[in-house]
Amino acid sequence: MHIFLANPRGFCIGVNMAIKTLEAAITRFGLPLYVYHEIVHNRWVVDNFKSRGVKFVSTIDEVPEDARLMFSAHGVAPDIRIKASQKNIETIDATCPLVARVHREVLRYAANKYTIILIGHNGHDEVIGTMNEAPESIILVEHESDIHNLCLNPNDKLVVLTQTTLSVTETQSMIELLKQKFPNIISGSNANICYATQHRQEAIAMLAPLVDIILIVGSGNSSNSKRLAERGEALGVRSILIDGADNINVGWFNGNEKILISAGASAPEYVVQDCVKMLQKNFNATVEERQTSTDSLSFQLPIVD
Ligand code: SF4
Repeated sequence: MHIFLANPRGFCIGVNMAIKTLEAAITRFGLPLYVYHEIVHNRWVVDNFKSRGVKFVSTIDEVPEDARLMFSAHGVAPDIRIKASQKNIETIDATCPLVARVHREVLRYAANKYTIILIGHNGHDEVIGTMNEAPESIILVEHESDIHNLCLNPNDKLVVLTQTTLSVTETQSMIELLKQKFPNIISGSNANICYATQHRQEAIAMLAPLVDIILIVGSGNSSNSKRLAERGEALGVRSILIDGADNINVGWFNGNEKILISAGASAPEYVVQDCVKMLQKNFNATVEERQTSTDSLSFQLPIVD
């Protein structure tokens, strides 16, 4: 068995920033500390913070007055900020700056009387936050069929924006379809997927031809992790999303395979290494890292004072 380890894989800069901000807040303020939604979509990360006493909530009603609350990497709707301020809750914002940029674009285009077509997944934390910036100006489309069903005047001011963690190929084809139907539609500066999602998907596309099976480390509610497994499948390689080494079934392998391992942007590296060790132990696997691009952005931590 031979393992190719995709690089880049795992934590993106936005996830890193959110986790470091929560660590800094625990050190600075101690408990109780509340986080609105999962800080990032990964079971290991969330369980680790839960075991240390951090409370994750899905409504402001669950947060006592004057408490301290962190907003997760996926961002929040403006009404959540207002409700928190009405309860005198002190907030720390760990929204990924690339998500915050989409929020700003929504506000700018809505103020300029555009109808915004947002490509994204209904119910995802990021999409809920983005849509609620200007709900009267946004239409969500999830599938190509939603675009066929759109009844809009092609002469209206239209712009397309996207969730940050979608499939690059599917989103491009949806944008093309929108342009065919509405030739005057413009693309917001974010109408391309965030750099981390793109780099991880590109690595799958480049390395899939070398392997028999792909393992993607990531939780089932992680959008970008699921897109990596879908990309592998679309390229004809059996691709399995695993939360950790205990999800690996040795019966999947005969011991002679070439395997590609990658990880979604919210999956910790130690979980990847546990999976590698498990395969080394059971199949004497050799390991080789393959770098296909470099994540080069960096963000400052929000001030925790
Ligand atoms: S996947 Fe992209 S948008 Fe999401 S947290 Fe990471 S860098 Fe930010």
